[in-house]
Amino acid sequence: MIANYHTHTYRCGHGIGTEKEYIEAAIQAGIRILGFSEHAPYWFGDTGHYSRFRMPVHDGENYVNTLLSLRKEYANDIEIFIGFEAEYYPLFFQGFLEKICPLAYDYLILGQHFTGNEIGEIYTGTPSPGGKERLQTYVNQCLEGMKTGKFSYLAHPDLIQTNVKSSVLRGELVRLCQGVKELGYPVEINFLGMRDHRAYPTVELYQAAAETGCDVIFGVDAHSPDVFLDQNTLKRARKIVNAYGLHLVKTLQIRNAEEEMPKQCHRMNNHDNAPYNASACNE
Ligand SMILES: [Zn+2]
Ligand SMILES: [Zn+2]
Repeated sequence: MIANYHTHTYRCGHGIGTEKEYIEAAIQAGIRILGFSEHAPYWFGDTGHYSRFRMPVHDGENYVNTLLSLRKEYANDIEIFIGFEAEYYPLFFQGFLEKICPLAYDYLILGQHFTGNEIGEIYTGTPSPGGKERLQTYVNQCLEGMKTGKFSYLAHPDLIQTNVKSSVLRGELVRLCQGVKELGYPVEINFLGMRDHRAYPTVELYQAAAETGCDVIFGVDAHSPDVFLDQNTLKRARKIVNAYGLHLVKTLQIRNAEEEMPKQCHRMNNHDNAPYNASACNE
């Protein structure tokens, strides 16, 4: 595995290890390109809602500055990209983009952990009797999110757990994969789910990716540095790719985040290693 773009840290509160520890473990595992995608700080306006599974809002600057400095330190050993895993919440997404605008990040991945706007919703991965309707809502929202053009791939597309028949799940995942494919992005085969024997990744996802010809990408979804050294999951994932004849992309086309920024944001180019500059967004 030469690249992984799904990496967390201690900052989200349910992962362990510093950025440096992840980088060193990744180098040891032979990874050449490492993308950090910590659970993004999200702003819920004046609703008073607080997410417990994300990095705190005030930590965004430390996260990015730490990675900018490590990028320099490890420049000869590994290529580092700075990203966030985030949800698409229609009510708060624009505000979120504006808030992270001054941070010198390179990319976002979509991990739709809740539908709606999170507030009052149940976690996508919680088994729910919501049935087909809940599943369709989830798929629609993922597609809407990917259509914004802000995300570079769709993480654990089959995170959603409902009580539908396999054929219904497959049908909806075909719709999801087809839509993501048409937009030109890959869907993830999630190693955390495999490693922890979770309900995902599903056979229905492999079938849907095969049927639609949607690209797949491996995502370690690391919440501790040692998982980069887990060769067993990698072997299992490779077997699946071969068994279903999936098209695996090994490196990600990082979208030019600068281009995607709201017009009022004149952030410095990431690769100038520009430090955090909040004033850049208020010009
Ligand atoms: Zn997590
Ligand atoms: Zn993740």
